[in-house]
Amino acid sequence: MKQSFSQTIQQWLKALIHFRGFSKTWMGKNLSMIQLMELDACTHCAMCTSHCSVAIAYEGIANINILPSEKIASIRALASGIPLTEKEIRDLQEGVYLCTNCYRCTVVCPVGINLQEVWNQVRELLLQRGIPELSILSPLSYYRGLMRREGDSENYEKPLTQAKREIQAQCEAMINKEALLPLPPIDPSFTRGLGLSAQSKNYSFCFGCQTCTTVCPVVSHYENPQEVLGLLPHQIMHAAGLGLKDLAIGSNMLWDCLTCYRCQEQCPRGVPVTDILYELKTIAIKSTKEKKL
Ligand code: SF4
Ligand code: SF4
Ligand code: SF4
Ligand code: SF4
Repeated sequence: MKQSFSQTIQQWLKALIHFRGFSKTWMGKNLSMIQLMELDACTHCAMCTSHCSVAIAYEGIANINILPSEKIASIRALASGIPLTEKEIRDLQEGVYLCTNCYRCTVVCPVGINLQEVWNQVRELLLQRGIPELSILSPLSYYRGLMRREGDSENYEKPLTQAKREIQAQCEAMINKEALLPLPPIDPSFTRGLGLSAQSKNYSFCFGCQTCTTVCPVVSHYENPQEVLGLLPHQIMHAAGLGLKDLAIGSNMLWDCLTCYRCQEQCPRGVPVTDILYELKTIAIKSTKEKKL
């Protein structure tokens, strides 16, 4: 009996996937047939890399997976079942997150590979594999939020909780809440770290009126906000002022902040509350990564 064109294509795809061993690997099982075929079609021409908006980051961070042509080669190796070391997988994870979702690679690829789709898929696959990724907590992870409806809600929340725990595990004062804190607790390296932003030192102007906390829509959403959020905005400003790093960066409030700027707009002392929360997020992610390495 004569086969239809689509049956022939299906058979050819199955044979290709079987030949490459893609379907036997955890990665192969999770990428679509089309994506696996696309991985195989890459000619390593590096056109994507020459147009990538973050390729320049490779000059500062020696991770070849920042470059899309090399990133796709690593993904292809992983999907083929070639064992990558834990460091290579971490490098790949950093590579798929160091991307601005600009689509330039996809637009210029002469083979027509939808690279952006592959990055998104691999981001989620690595997360679901249980590798905590702190960047998903940063404001730059908004893209994942936009795609929330496409995944199931349980899988969306799990990596977020895992990443928050990863940060809190580095904060002694958050783990051992009954412990007495030494005074004066100023950590000079921490205050210097806050100095990265031109405005960030202004937390010292805070006189504790709690207006920031009162106007915050996240705080007012909860009946008992401290139970869920940990320190509230005015308390985080106090912790920052006292140099209590663990308390300032270990609070869930940092990650649940909507960046609405209401606190900052209404502060009578002109404290840039939202900007400071941003700064603290960066410090939390950076110091946790440094401690883990
Ligand atoms: S432009 Fe397309 S074919 Fe060329 S290296 Fe990048 S992904 Fe591969
Ligand atoms: S989508 Fe990401 S990988 Fe592709 S060109 Fe833009 S920054 Fe580079
Ligand atoms: S509103 Fe300003 S002054 Fe009042 S507690 Fe918040 S940061 Fe401090
Ligand atoms: S910026 Fe964040 S902390 Fe400030 S009011 Fe908005 S949600 Fe609350």
